[in-house]
Amino acid sequence: MSRRTFVTVGAGQTAAVAARNLRRHGFDGRIVLIGDEPHPPYQRPPLSKEFLAGTENEEGLWILPPKWLQDNDVEIITDTTVVRVDAAARAVEFSGGAGLQADSVLFATGGAPRRLPVDGPRPDLVHYLRTLDDAARLAPVLTPGRRLAIIGAGFIGLEIAATAAAAGVEVTVLEAVPVPLARVVGPAMGEAVCRLHRDNGVDIRAGVQLAGVRTAADGVVIDIAGAAAPLEADAVVVGIGIIPNTAVAAASGLWVDDGIVVDALGRTAVPGVFAAGDAARRYSPRAGRHLRLEHFDNASRQGVAVANAMLGREAPSDDPLWFWSDQYGRNIQFVGTASGTPVIRGNRDEFDFTGFYLENDTVCGAFAIDRGEDVTAARELLGRGVDAAALLDEDTDLWDLVYADEDEQVRA
Ligand SMILES: Cc1cc2nc3c(=O)[nH]c(=O)nc-3n(C[C@H](O)[C@H](O)[C@H](O)COP(=O)(O)OP(=O)(O)OC[C@H]3O[C@@H](n4cnc5c(N)ncnc54)[C@H](O)[C@@H]3O)c2cc1C
Repeated sequence: MSRRTFVTVGAGQTAAVAARNLRRHGFDGRIVLIGDEPHPPYQRPPLSKEFLAGTENEEGLWILPPKWLQDNDVEIITDTTVVRVDAAARAVEFSGGAGLQADSVLFATGGAPRRLPVDGPRPDLVHYLRTLDDAARLAPVLTPGRRLAIIGAGFIGLEIAATAAAAGVEVTVLEAVPVPLARVVGPAMGEAVCRLHRDNGVDIRAGVQLAGVRTAADGVVIDIAGAAAPLEADAVVVGIGIIPNTAVAAASGLWVDDGIVVDALGRTAVPGVFAAGDAARRYSPRAGRHLRLEHFDNASRQGVAVANAMLGREAPSDDPLWFWSDQYGRNIQFVGTASGTPVIRGNRDEFDFTGFYLENDTVCGAFAIDRGEDVTAARELLGRGVDAAALLDEDTDLWDLVYADEDEQVRA
């Protein structure tokens, strides 16, 4: 039995996937996941969707089933905060003084919601959504007729809006930028998502500036710059992004610059110390720069890459950005980058379409509603020149475009 010990700081998506892959690839040392939450690693995406809607329970979110943990001898220490890692010695220190000696350490600390100052007597009416406990606290608020204000129309804010609206809640979303999601998916696709919400009765007010948020005895009052009257609601959810959890890495002497800076394999400058997931800013050869991404697929793939790197296998993951979102029973997917103007295949009015982002007829990315298969094909077409007219023609099988080069080679 190898005596090596692998410790993760944080026990979320990345840590769980890294542990699973270490075992899968034959690592027979000790694996310890240390998390400050009271739960074993769980999936966060359902927190704003099925779990919030009450159609999924806590056990359904667990990433590593109890039997797998037992069979694979993986230890999870919950309710425990790591305060520092002596990176050179790889000594992991917990709050309260205890600690662990490790051979390899993975910082998989994720991020924490950006906070908004809110005065007033009822802080309990102010919600954030990052953890299972946050979701459990928010779920009872979603009752028919309740008025919910959501500050921030990013994906999480919009998913909460969709879940709340489906539960009969009166939802108002306040967003600072003129077109929600435009930074990520471009204005045209952002507009399409907005329309989806408005069609479902959500009041989206974009391009508004907040003058202040406060709680009163029985509700929340939001002052909007230039508005005749404040917005009043029974509760508010603040969804204005996350800040990567990097304080412990910084206190441990690692290089932090909007994320823990790592190479393409997830390695920090200190041998045996890795970082991955939402907290890491990894070098992407594809992009030619460091990127910090806040999506499930990235967290999972980086978890695999770190497990490989730890075992001395150089298998960097540099896949294009891909993520999904579910809103109003519709599946939204995005791959690549939102460069150029999207051209539409399908029916945008009926929310059954794919927008292909083209630059000089080269595919840069795709955004789709209820067309996951198109996104899978688009992923294969990224960086390739296409005939835009063929792309948009619903009679064209996208896979014919994907395999066109191969077919030509066979013919030649
Ligand atoms: C509500 C919600 C919905 C989402 N929906 C989608 C979606 O539809 N599609 C998608 O692609 N992505 C989605 N995401 C994003 C995705 O869940 C994250 O990208 C992913 O969870 C990141 O994994 P991670 O391991 O980096 O961080 P996390 O899963 O956040 O895990 C980090 C863990 O480390 C703990 N920790 C931090 N510091 C310490 C410390 N010092 N000591 C001990 N423990 C510590 C944290 O408390 C946390 O438990 C969603 C996220 C949320 C919150």
